[in-house]
Amino acid sequence: MTPLAQLLIERIREAGPVTVADYMAECLLHPVHGYYTNREPFGATGDFVTAPVITQMFGELFGLALAQTWLDQGAPSPFTLAELGPGRGNLMADALRATRKVPGFHAAARVVLVEASPRLRAVQANTLAASGLTPDWLDRVEDLPDRPTFLIANEFLDALPIRQFLLSPEGWRERLVGVVEGRLGFGLSAPLRQVPDTPAFRAARPGDLVEHCAAAQAAVAASLRPILAHGGLALFIDYGGWRSRGDTLQALRAHRFDDVLAHPGEADLTAHVDFEPLAALAPAHAYAPQGEVLRRLGIETRAAQLAPHLTGALLENHRAALARLTDPEEMGSLFKVLALTRAGAPLPPGFAP
Ligand code: SAH
Repeated sequence: MTPLAQLLIERIREAGPVTVADYMAECLLHPVHGYYTNREPFGATGDFVTAPVITQMFGELFGLALAQTWLDQGAPSPFTLAELGPGRGNLMADALRATRKVPGFHAAARVVLVEASPRLRAVQANTLAASGLTPDWLDRVEDLPDRPTFLIANEFLDALPIRQFLLSPEGWRERLVGVVEGRLGFGLSAPLRQVPDTPAFRAARPGDLVEHCAAAQAAVAASLRPILAHGGLALFIDYGGWRSRGDTLQALRAHRFDDVLAHPGEADLTAHVDFEPLAALAPAHAYAPQGEVLRRLGIETRAAQLAPHLTGALLENHRAALARLTDPEEMGSLFKVLALTRAGAPLPPGFAP
């Protein structure tokens, strides 16, 4: 049993079962035993790989898309160039390198990183040291400064805690984590008087499980605050779909799926992102599969430019990376890109008109 499992069992014995969201939050961000607090999740020796760790092209193309949108909006200065949950910092480092020659972009940019893990902040500082721009770190999206904001977040929303609700014959019940025969186990709450009012809840049929991520709603609303007031754009890239469909909570440990209750603090926990209620927070949005957006941004051209500099295993990896990010059987269609902006603002490049 992990140390965090022991702590959770004690807490549940004293105070009763916890929501799936409480469980997820403790597993990921517990100040001593949390997954992001302790572990090196990324890369071949970690538990999962993300697009910016797979290839530099991801950060380059999305960085250029943000810079183009900044130009389209009249090149406001100064502006916030923000990333939520930067992980190892590769996306921002690649975006900054690719945009170095965009006139005025770096001079006007104030780089802001929202990161909860002190350990990862240190990794990010190191990755960005060569960029020539010194970032500021924030604990909370709510603290983004008041100015035009161009923001990106890759695989951030999927790490935010979700609650799960089941439409039982007696009405909505919440899925809870309790103690069953001395171990963590799932159970259900008594019927609830109220559940969130979203299209997924309204469309549910008896027996359906619906997920709700209040933290994602809050993070997106907070990202939009400076954008709606002063201009800018937010790009959220994540795996998921338009509307919640059943239980998507999953644990990954050493690149394998794990029982979500088996190794609290030692496995990564994520859930599919439901984009419909997030898109509804902005006056204007665009939404498309990642593979489609990257192709429109020119990933094939960029891949062909880089290929002649590579040989052997590096070239193989480079070719595999292109397929991995864009093929519908890989990340190309499971991952989606949601762009949010003000009413009447031009759509960012990468989306069909
Ligand atoms: N964007 C990176 C990392 C994704 S992992 C990539 O694509 O590789 C999720 C990131 O979000 C980690 O950096 C994690 O520490 C951070 N994070 C998770 N929950 C957070 C929260 N509530 N507030 C701020 N950062 C959080």
